[in-house]
Amino acid sequence: MDEKLSRRDVLQKGAAFGLLTVVGAAACGKSQAKGLSCSDTTSLSAADAQVRTSLAYVDMSTDPGKTCSGCQQFLPGPPDACGSCKVLKGPINPKGNCKSFLAKPA
Ligand code: SF4
Repeated sequence: MDEKLSRRDVLQKGAAFGLLTVVGAAACGKSQAKGLSCSDTTSLSAADAQVRTSLAYVDMSTDPGKTCSGCQQFLPGPPDACGSCKVLKGPINPKGNCKSFLAKPA
């Protein structure tokens, strides 16, 4: 068996490794930049999705002092995952907010 690598083998394997590196880096960067998304309402009924809209739920609160994680209605999920809410159906971002925000007691 010839264990020497031909120039073609080196170039092919090098190109494949480079491609994997670029794809892997892009995937990591995308997930970090995008953050947690809890806005998928495709499994909800139209009425439940409408409640989210009516209460102006957003995935990222504009007020750092009023986030879902600080709301009495929030039900936390696993670490780094969406939680849920006693008022709204569907996934809830710990950093989200809606008009029914009710601060946890101090
Ligand atoms: Fe978030 Fe609104 Fe539910 Fe409170 S009531 S956890 S602010 S969605």
